[in-house]
Amino acid sequence: MTAILLDGKAISKTIREEVACDVADFVASTGVVPSLTVVLVGEDPASAIYVRNKVRDCKRTGIESKAHRLSADSSETELLGLIEQLNASSDVHGILVQLPLPQQINESQILDAIHPHKDVDAFHPENVGRIVQGRPRFLPCTPHGIQQLLHRSGVGVAGKEVVIVGRSDIVGKPLATMFAQRDSAFGPVMANGTVTLAHSRTPSLADVTRRADILVAAIGKPCFVTADMVKPGAAVIDVGINRTDEGLVGDVDFQSVKEVAGHITPVPGGVGPLTIAMLLYNTLKAAQLQLE
Ligand code: NDP
Repeated sequence: MTAILLDGKAISKTIREEVACDVADFVASTGVVPSLTVVLVGEDPASAIYVRNKVRDCKRTGIESKAHRLSADSSETELLGLIEQLNASSDVHGILVQLPLPQQINESQILDAIHPHKDVDAFHPENVGRIVQGRPRFLPCTPHGIQQLLHRSGVGVAGKEVVIVGRSDIVGKPLATMFAQRDSAFGPVMANGTVTLAHSRTPSLADVTRRADILVAAIGKPCFVTADMVKPGAAVIDVGINRTDEGLVGDVDFQSVKEVAGHITPVPGGVGPLTIAMLLYNTLKAAQLQLE
């Protein structure tokens, strides 16, 4: 069996076009151009690329975008001061602080300081709480991208065994919460999963992953998920982005798993493009919220 490819690039393009139309309507009716400010501390090359891509994609969608670059030795107080200014500015609708931050800065302090209405990453405790309660303001970009990818590919979640490997605050935990809800923005079919959240201390991991109708790998280890860990016909979503000598590879051993799975995402061109598309979506949402 060869799995159906879930084309994140194509789906992301469709979503960006939809967001661009909604942005144009919003500008026409309010005279306000949605705007995103990205804050980068330090010179991490991967982070610099992510920031450049985010700024570029905003512009292509009609969203204004600025990048603030602080030096690697900036203090927490300095960064908190900048966030305070951005929170107070009516020209800034969304704020994104690129992670990871240098060691001297406490990540939670910074993320907690972003105004919840400008928190386009949905990392603020108020926004996380709202997701848990099933009344989200923003959905975090990568989990939302995965939900969009499955929905637009006709793969429902309701009634399925969903196994997510990786329990980070950015991917695994919020995705597990969203799939376990009674309802979603796409209706109950994209919620109501029976969800297992696995991690490095899960015993007999392969026995757990083999139960999955939908298997999500968000681990950060190249080609970790092999064919023997996958139930025949399962939808396999690879979140991993690992830089190796052979180039970018995911957490799933694509070549072997595609022979067993029913659906599979490639890396690159799977979940990654969706993450940026949902950031654009959240920035428009932030602008709408601030005019309410
Ligand atoms: P984290 O490093 O925060 O978390 C990794 C998770 O994997 C942890 O929960 C860890 O378990 C678990 N894990 C590690 N080793 C094993 C193992 N041997 N068996 C089972 N579980 C294991 O990762 P992120 O969620 O931030 O990112 C994961 C991957 O996704 C990375 O490659 C990252 O680059 C990528 N990513 C891609 C995005 C995209 O847009 N495509 C967006 C965000 C991330 P424990 O908690 O026990 O330590």
